[in-house]
Amino acid sequence: MPSNPVAETVASLLPRAKAELTELVAFKSVADFTQFPKSESDAAAAWIADALRAEGFTDVALLDTPDGTQSVYGFLPGPEGAKTVLLYAHYDVQPPLDEAGWATPPFELTERDGRWYGRGTADCKGGFIMHLLALRALKANGGVPVSVKVIVEGSEEQGTGGLERYAEQHPELLAADTIVIGDAGNFRVGLPTVTTTLRGMTLVRVRIDTLAGNLHSGQFGGAAPDALAALIRVLDSLRAEDGSTTVDGLDATAEWDGLEYTEEQFRADARVLDGVGLIGGGSVADRIWARPAVTVLGIDCPPVVGATPSVQSSARALVSLRVPPGVDAAEATKLLQAHIEAHTPWGARVGIEQIGQGQAFRADTSSPAYQAMADAMAVAYPGETMQYAGQGGSIPLCNTLAGLYPQAEILLIGLSEPEAQIHAVNESVSPEELERLSVAEALFLRNYAAG
Ligand SMILES: [Zn+2]
Repeated sequence: MPSNPVAETVASLLPRAKAELTELVAFKSVADFTQFPKSESDAAAAWIADALRAEGFTDVALLDTPDGTQSVYGFLPGPEGAKTVLLYAHYDVQPPLDEAGWATPPFELTERDGRWYGRGTADCKGGFIMHLLALRALKANGGVPVSVKVIVEGSEEQGTGGLERYAEQHPELLAADTIVIGDAGNFRVGLPTVTTTLRGMTLVRVRIDTLAGNLHSGQFGGAAPDALAALIRVLDSLRAEDGSTTVDGLDATAEWDGLEYTEEQFRADARVLDGVGLIGGGSVADRIWARPAVTVLGIDCPPVVGATPSVQSSARALVSLRVPPGVDAAEATKLLQAHIEAHTPWGARVGIEQIGQGQAFRADTSSPAYQAMADAMAVAYPGETMQYAGQGGSIPLCNTLAGLYPQAEILLIGLSEPEAQIHAVNESVSPEELERLSVAEALFLRNYAAG
């Protein structure tokens, strides 16, 4: 990195950041209190509150959210009349999963091959440390030129919506001109990326009934309506010959206009077996970021072991539909239901139950905040241009904030690049990414205040 006072300060603060992240990673703050003691989450929340107080934040508070977890809030007043920026992270983490699969203990930050390993190092305890580093670097170089609100959620990984509900009940609390969600990641290490869209999702359970009970397949097979066969037909009707998703009436032709994702790269990332083709039409980015994608998550039918020669009287499936930005999730759900009903063969009885739904998100990339971030990224990542990527998953809080504060600009950045292996065993963070993104965030706040 070229000499830049902010960058020099961040570099000098990195050893302290590592020590702090080590402390934070040591809390087993999984917000599933049937499996992990709540005291671990409470201790992590208290640690964050202390860190904010030490940085001069006022109004630091532990917010009791409706799902029984706590979010940590703090406010750092800026100069008179300054804009307000909300910085988001979460301190809860995914469970370690298979502990034996970790090369080093999941809750002990361990340096190996230039990366820091441990649950939450990237997702998203490192994201909070990134916010701290950015603010400290500005303080050491003329001050923080905006008012800053920080919110650190305690149950993001559980999807229980505690902070979303709390924010809806206290709409003034998180109001800001710009929101930086520190829970995304660069497309590659070293390639500065802002995530500009998230797909939404709808989840339905399909049940098909055809007979009063199972029948002998020798005696009745061939004429008896087979519920499992009917279900397979319905599920297959959701795909075209090339494997692309086809839900009657749902547009599947949108194109991605940001970063390109080569097939070769995608095959490597997805670990596709040699000789097996990708599915869908259009570019890879079109398919995973701009178009709908149906996935059958489960089927209830007899397992192979112990199966009897029977025609099945009923069968069930759990079907997920990823909803692209620009499409209303409720509308997509209706289309999916109508499609399943229309494609159920032989007059079989079909029941559809909606299990969950979340809206897609699209940021306004023409806003001043995006320009401020692009300029900041260009300094933090010399020679690179900021890229726009999508994300196939959803962050429901994004929609809540976008709904509450329609004027606010929302930027998603973070440490979860592909090598970070978030949610898997051996999660890690790249210290260089932490350094560069902290510089970028600091310079972003400065550019944005000046803009
Ligand atoms: Zn996360």
